[in-house]
Amino acid sequence: MASARRRPAARPAGRSRAREAYARVFGALRDHSRLFSEAIPLIASENIPSPAVREALLSDFGNRYAEGWPGERVYAGCEHIDRVEVECMGLARRLFRAGFADVRPTSGVVANLAIYSAFSDPGDVMIAPSIPAGGHISHGKREHAGTAGLVHGLDIEFYPFDADEMAIDVDATKKKVRALKAARRLPKIAMLGGSLFLFPHPVAELSGFFRSRKVHVNYDAAHVAGLIAGGKFQDPLREGADTMTLSTHKTLFGPQGGLVLGSKSHAEAIKRAVFPGLTSSHHIHHMAAKAVAFAEAIEFGRKYAAQVVSNARRLAEELSSQGLRVLGERRGFTESHQVAVDVWDHADGGAVERALERANIIVNRQLIPGDIRAGRNYMKPGGIRLGVSEVTRLGMRGGEMAEIARLIRSVIVDGADAARTRRAARELRKGHQRARYCFEGRRGAYDYVRLR
Ligand SMILES: *Cc1c(COP(=O)(O)O)cnc(C)c1O
Repeated sequence: MASARRRPAARPAGRSRAREAYARVFGALRDHSRLFSEAIPLIASENIPSPAVREALLSDFGNRYAEGWPGERVYAGCEHIDRVEVECMGLARRLFRAGFADVRPTSGVVANLAIYSAFSDPGDVMIAPSIPAGGHISHGKREHAGTAGLVHGLDIEFYPFDADEMAIDVDATKKKVRALKAARRLPKIAMLGGSLFLFPHPVAELSGFFRSRKVHVNYDAAHVAGLIAGGKFQDPLREGADTMTLSTHKTLFGPQGGLVLGSKSHAEAIKRAVFPGLTSSHHIHHMAAKAVAFAEAIEFGRKYAAQVVSNARRLAEELSSQGLRVLGERRGFTESHQVAVDVWDHADGGAVERALERANIIVNRQLIPGDIRAGRNYMKPGGIRLGVSEVTRLGMRGGEMAEIARLIRSVIVDGADAARTRRAARELRKGHQRARYCFEGRRGAYDYVRLR
């Protein structure tokens, strides 16, 4: 009661609690835009969309339902939505040279669930990379609350992994699969691709082996889709993968979303799994924004992907020459947008993540090979992961990578003053405020757009 009496006094007349919460939300949104316009964004799963993608996201499509397939919708009012969705599917098929594309999955996790649902039953076995070997929690075991185990009841086996090469061990995998078959536990699905993803996976080496045993091969390109589209990584559908799943927002230019690709023979099973199985609304505004992003990737994706890979390599080399322990050294550190650093000599990955965050350098801590054996968990892992997709979209090149490496070293090794590093980051960002590699981009990439 006392607090009820105090409440009006703490507030200007006429301002309700709800009005204040409302104002706080907008305050946080604006602060966030400013933070990201001044920071060095190195989260490997993030990117910055063009103003065109943001415009599509704000459209009225976001208020509509379009259940089903274009031309076979469950609701009226879908005439123009169908036009965009047909365009979107055509762009996706062209970008990835696929016979079939379902653009409706609302995320990469939903795209993976569509594959599990379409091509396996609960209780079946799936072989996938473990998390320290680069796997994603959506490929994970039930006891880790991984999507595959927890939601679809798959029984997960891990690929044997060679940490020196940062690669799936092909011979050991064949041996393991033969043993699984002898034990009547032949996998139904082989999942390739992952989240800590420095080098291409052995799709060509394993897909014939799996195909002859009727194991469905799915390649999870959530991280590397933009590099595949740009012709700068492997090409899983040509190397023998049956289907490919991805997120549209990591190295691609999209809004957050998912995509499933395959050949025409997979279409019916995937369509049924996505709707009605896994979606009701498929977030139509995101679908429209995906179409815009796919068009940008067809037009600008090759140049972008080449710069991303070159920037990642440069960042890794600079960090290594600054004395940091960069993974994958034997193979030239990286062939993707990512760089992984073992920081255990200095502090655990969580402490390093926080120190860099105070300096406005945004990265994530990362479980790396050997962590689990050493008794480390995801709160205090041995590594950090860096990605250059976003800084590359902002137009940064080799010189900026060298500067970023110096700033990272100064925080991790020298314990540099956070305020000084924040100033240096802001300075570095001054000339990098717009999304490049797009048709139109007059507005700043981080501009806060007020409609109220
Ligand atoms: C990020 C990621 C996903 C999940 O994608 P969302 O779009 O966040 O649902 C799936 N698989 C891999 C390998 C990923 O890295």
